Amino acid sequence: MEKFDVEKLVRDNIKKLKPYSSARSEYRGNAEVFMDANENAYGSPFEENFNRYPDPLQWQLKQQISKIKGVPAQNIFVGNGSDEVIDLAFRIFCEPGKDNVIICPPTYGMYKVCANINDVEVREVLLTQDFQLDVVGILSAIDENTKLLFICSPNNPTGNDLDRLDIESLLNNFRGIVLIDEAYINFSMQKTFIRELTEYENLIVMQTLSKAWGLAGLRLGVGFASEIIIELMNKVKPPYNINQSSQQLAIKALDKIQKVNETIKNIVQQRNWVHDELQQFKFVQIIYSSDANFILVKVDDADKLYHYLLMNRIIVRNRSKESLCESCIRITIGTSQENQTLINALKNYV
Ligand code: PMP
Repeated sequence: MEKFDVEKLVRDNIKKLKPYSSARSEYRGNAEVFMDANENAYGSPFEENFNRYPDPLQWQLKQQISKIKGVPAQNIFVGNGSDEVIDLAFRIFCEPGKDNVIICPPTYGMYKVCANINDVEVREVLLTQDFQLDVVGILSAIDENTKLLFICSPNNPTGNDLDRLDIESLLNNFRGIVLIDEAYINFSMQKTFIRELTEYENLIVMQTLSKAWGLAGLRLGVGFASEIIIELMNKVKPPYNINQSSQQLAIKALDKIQKVNETIKNIVQQRNWVHDELQQFKFVQIIYSSDANFILVKVDDADKLYHYLLMNRIIVRNRSKESLCESCIRITIGTSQENQTLINALKNYV
């Protein structure tokens, strides 16, 4: 097989792009008077000051992520949620109206939405009945215009890990970019792919601070990839994509790894509890085994159950319209009290 060459995948306009050069990215020194960025030197209208533009490349935050993850800072991209990383991949690699990407439904909805926004063809290769990758199907859907392959493991909404050997086989046999979305990796026993970046030049691993780290409101997603891919992302992203407040708060949160590990343990323990409790209900047909912080459940009538829970002011996700998820709802694991409230409500459901 020919050698992987990322340059061949990049859109011509991106190759030629002269990126915006912000005042803060041009300056590297020890000036005391900042008159370069049209900021307000009088400060913000409260005690904390946000009057200066933030670090466009978030080096302090990346150093900290690097320490925790064992990946060099120059192999790290920080996005406004993983959703920004997904969108950038389309804008860098996919020529609208010409290129295509492969997704494996049922899976996270933003891959398809981003493809549609960017006018990029989506080739859907369904997971198998046991929610694993159809490797042969994927390989036969690939053509010379296939630029991206999205793999979500643990997968949303099914909750299961995808087989590592299948993923490796795709990494070895596809000459486009493989994006592995590890949003839920901290709840799983599965090994991360961030250790394999030197092995696979066509790999982008996505993680997020929205789940295990409990920081969904800050909007911080992380992309891990080769330096060439990270440089492309930096070239295309908005100059100040991560605001100062998010950078500061994330730096503070990343010091609390022990607390986060305790939360993860609690969530996994609660997931097992909810799984066991759900078995008592006759209207529950299948409780799918989960490696994430949610459980997919097949019930007699998903719409009816969804509305019943809504009446009880409990909101779950109705996934019954998704392929392979007929009659399924997805339940996010809550606090022990919330999980108990859910089970109590289900006991009164007829
Ligand atoms: N990937 C998956 C698989 C998800 O389920 C979600 C959120 N539901 C995301 C990414 C989005 O993450 P972020 O909040 O970092 O944009």
